[in-house]
Amino acid sequence: MSSIALFAALGLLIGSFVNVLIYRLPLMIEASDQLQTARFNLAWPASHCPHCKQSLRIWHNIPLLSFLLLKGRCAFCHQAISPRYPLVECANAVVWAACAWHWGADWTGWAWAMFSSLLLALTVIDAQTSYLPDVLTQGLLWLGLLASALGLNPLPVHDAVLGAACGYVSLWLVASAFEGLTGKVGMGAGDFKLLAALGAWLGAWMLIPLVFLASTLGAFIGLTLMATHRMRRHDYLPFGPFLAVSASLLAWLGSDAVLGFMSHSFFA
Ligand SMILES: [Zn+2]
Repeated sequence: MSSIALFAALGLLIGSFVNVLIYRLPLMIEASDQLQTARFNLAWPASHCPHCKQSLRIWHNIPLLSFLLLKGRCAFCHQAISPRYPLVECANAVVWAACAWHWGADWTGWAWAMFSSLLLALTVIDAQTSYLPDVLTQGLLWLGLLASALGLNPLPVHDAVLGAACGYVSLWLVASAFEGLTGKVGMGAGDFKLLAALGAWLGAWMLIPLVFLASTLGAFIGLTLMATHRMRRHDYLPFGPFLAVSASLLAWLGSDAVLGFMSHSFFA
């Protein structure tokens, strides 16, 4: 029990770093796209309020606690702090505790907790900016291969490598065919890299239920957003969050449970 609490506390700390990634990586990508000398990296400038740019004191920067003590407002300019910060921290803490409970509070649990944190960062960044930063997708890919090589993931190494290669190529083929047929870009290279990374964690055979589940979720959410007029027909809906959520479900529950549930709810 205490080791699960330790994972939750670690998850809260790492969640705070996930917030840094979510805020800074898109700014760093935009700066390098415009060929500016990077005025932003992960460590510089120091944590600051996005409204008044005041640097935060160390006690303004404690995960969750500072948000509660400051009642969700900047200590300097009293502008509201986005609830995304405490939400991401809490979500990450819950996920870390759940990984420790499901896989054990050891290196295996740690590996899946890192998998989850990277997917959390990718999900929020893709939903907000439609970027999937290379540093996160490539990190996820290498961590997946390492987890297999070190025996933290029971998936054999050759399945992990095959999963990564098939993940990239299959989505690239689908996207090229879609572009050739419609002249529109449906997916970006970031999606191929993300599916490669997920293939490294789940293996080649899991890619089929993964893409099936992600497309079903995407279509369902897309149609719901259109029906409620929160999205127009030609608006772009990022695919990364659906891949991330589906991969987590498959990792947690296994493909049999997920596909069984889907066939039950659609065809029963
Ligand atoms: Zn401020």
